[in-house]
Amino acid sequence: MGSCLVYAPAQDHNEPGHPENPGRLEAIYSLLKKEEILGQLSIVEPVPASIGQIELVHNPGHVKRIEHISIQGGGRVDADTYCTAESYRLARIAAGSICELTEKILTGESKNGISIIRPPGHHAEIDRAMGFCLFNNIAIAARYAQKMHNIRRILIIDFDVHHGNGTQDIFYSDPSVLFVSLHLFHPFFYPGTGDASENGVGDGRGYTINIPFGVGAGDSGYIRAFSELINPLANEFKPELILVSAGFDAHWIDPLAAARLTLTGYFQMTQLILKMAEKLCQDRLIFCLEGGYNYEALSFGVLNVIRALLGNDNPLDPLGKSPMPEADMTNLLTQLCQLYLPE
Ligand SMILES: [Zn+2]
Repeated sequence: MGSCLVYAPAQDHNEPGHPENPGRLEAIYSLLKKEEILGQLSIVEPVPASIGQIELVHNPGHVKRIEHISIQGGGRVDADTYCTAESYRLARIAAGSICELTEKILTGESKNGISIIRPPGHHAEIDRAMGFCLFNNIAIAARYAQKMHNIRRILIIDFDVHHGNGTQDIFYSDPSVLFVSLHLFHPFFYPGTGDASENGVGDGRGYTINIPFGVGAGDSGYIRAFSELINPLANEFKPELILVSAGFDAHWIDPLAAARLTLTGYFQMTQLILKMAEKLCQDRLIFCLEGGYNYEALSFGVLNVIRALLGNDNPLDPLGKSPMPEADMTNLLTQLCQLYLPE
């Protein structure tokens, strides 16, 4: 029972000059090949999701809209989200591939895995594509696990530097999914949501946890958020499966953001999540690629996640630390613990 990987680079979902393009995944794949790590993983073949699988999460109208834009030859879905003639088909492959990987984990064929897929998903809401995302891959995998394998409680951790507004939207009133998003939050930073006051509605109240970091949050802020907040919440929630929206745009060198994680920080976070999965849900853990726009940070970030999944003890960190110091997140973490943790 080792680790598995699915790779679906969606070459024909491409727009010249756009930061979210197939070159991202090609960079990851060539590093994994160079480091000769692929042979240690069981490789899962990408498959398209059925419309029924997509509609576990999205409104039929949304699915039709994306299909229609592709049939028309492509176009813009919103100011920064594009669709080509092939995007509808490829977005279905991204979602289907993570479902296929989920199947391998839940049938016990592998103990954990990573989906290196695109277009990314965590900004896609029930009825809306946005932020480079068409269908919400991780949410579809969560619903698939619940429907096909009767999994009752799922923890989704989102460490992409942007708020996972789509995943939040989908599970906002649902106590069966504990959604935890760590992200940068300030008035001019995309998508503008994810304040700590957004923590669910109705039965879902308390099952959305937002960790809105200030500019300059880095390794110690992220690691402390796990030990002081996410671990106790997960212990209480007792997930049967852990899914991770893994964006690598919180790395200090990423051109789209201003957090200061290092590659070593990504490795350490993965180790913490692995421990959580070992303790709480028989190792069942799936990483799903979201953002990450500096190719070196992205590809070494993914490599470090895989090295940790395979039980390797040390990260590879050719980029080192940010030239700027990491900002102190103590006040924020104290406030969040008061807000989210019982006395
Ligand atoms: Zn992002």
